[in-house]
Amino acid sequence: MNLILFGPPAAGKGTQAKKLVSERGFIQLSTGDMLRAARSSGTDLGRRVAGIMDSGGLVSDEVVIALIEEQLQLNPGAAGFIFDGFPRTLAQAQALDEMLAGRGMKVDSVIRLKVDEEALIGRIERRFAEEGRPDDNPEAFRKRLTAYNSQTAPLLPVYAEQGKLNEIDGMQDVQAVSAAIARILDAAGSRATAG
Ligand code: AMP
Repeated sequence: MNLILFGPPAAGKGTQAKKLVSERGFIQLSTGDMLRAARSSGTDLGRRVAGIMDSGGLVSDEVVIALIEEQLQLNPGAAGFIFDGFPRTLAQAQALDEMLAGRGMKVDSVIRLKVDEEALIGRIERRFAEEGRPDDNPEAFRKRLTAYNSQTAPLLPVYAEQGKLNEIDGMQDVQAVSAAIARILDAAGSRATAG
């Protein structure tokens, strides 16, 4: 099955995606991780997106859609993907549907981590102090939240209408969030291979 982990920046999507990879055999596709890897290996793409990322803006749909397409091609026999930080716009969501449909697959479930934005700001200040990601600085983070609310949150009613949206309280501790995700996946037919 293919799953989208949905939520604003710093909601804990990456942490939960990594647990699902080790516990259920999903392949994690994080466009944020791919873009950071492009930057640290000094590619043209990395140089082109650096400024946008650091300011907290969204990289173009074309770029991130191409990154996902490349990963889908590289993993033809995968049992299930977990999309983390993608799609972030309606155009990306539409492209994802098309890329999956072309391979006889679909988005099976969307799990939204609901978080309190004020609490997120505190979380991100701690992450900035510990990891020093440039886009975690307060100004860039506010811009990332604005981008989420204006461009990404409008996907929620679309997935709700398709009957795919599941919401969980992302303010719980990591284990409790994992347990809530596990209940949803078990109810939906369990491991990456099912569905
Ligand atoms: P993330 O780690 O998912 O928060 O992504 C870090 C940054 O990478 C974002 O603030 C954007 O600048 C860029 N990025 C990651 N994924 C996407 C996406 N799906 N669409 C546009 N920009 C993205």
